Amino acid sequence: MVFRQNLAQVEERIVRACQASGRRRDEITLVAVSKVFPAEAILEAYEAGLRDFGENYVQEFEGKHPLVKHLGDARFHLIGHLQSNKTRKAGELFQVVQTVDTPKLARRLNEVGRPLDVMIEVKLSEEDAKSGADPREIPQLVSEIGACPQLKLLGLMTMPPWDEDAEESRPYFRRLYAIAQEHGLKALSMGMSHDFEVAIQEGATHIRVGTALFGKRQRK
Ligand SMILES: *Cc1c(COP(=O)(O)O)cnc(C)c1O
Repeated sequence: MVFRQNLAQVEERIVRACQASGRRRDEITLVAVSKVFPAEAILEAYEAGLRDFGENYVQEFEGKHPLVKHLGDARFHLIGHLQSNKTRKAGELFQVVQTVDTPKLARRLNEVGRPLDVMIEVKLSEEDAKSGADPREIPQLVSEIGACPQLKLLGLMTMPPWDEDAEESRPYFRRLYAIAQEHGLKALSMGMSHDFEVAIQEGATHIRVGTALFGKRQRK
């Protein structure tokens, strides 16, 4: 029951943000971030009507996959950094990889030989630990992905430095929107539990929401 209450609250926030910025609810895909939570959490969210799920770790999702693979119309998004030695597994398990940040990763995912939707993860801050492509590398990445017959480039993804003040995320979201416009890309994956309203105002098409749906994560 807690999940359904959380979902109702998240939905209400999404609808309000859409109204406040003149957008339609159906322009926004809610990606439920189920990392750390067991497969049962995905099943419960699916029952409640959600179809898009975000996972951070290939190996962790591999463990849940047998329990959720029968959900034929569910889409699983990899939203965590992808190491090149895990590309085959990732290409087999996920429908969307949001974290492509090098041409090599794109080529390897293409070699899996199965159609895959991808986004380019863009790094917009100087934080060392963050993965993602430098904005200057995007033109080359766009053309590399365009040359990969199995890959379909949906758009861009980013994760600003964490700050409890959602307004701190706004410049990053605005920047990602501008970069996507420059390259004619439609999808923008940005915004998490604490700042997705701001992301919607700035053009998000995919918001990645964990805590507000599933509660606080215990580990990792
Ligand atoms: C964990 C995670 C989220 C969800 O964060 P919440 O604050 O729990 O909503 C979104 N995007 C990425 C890349 C994450 O790793």
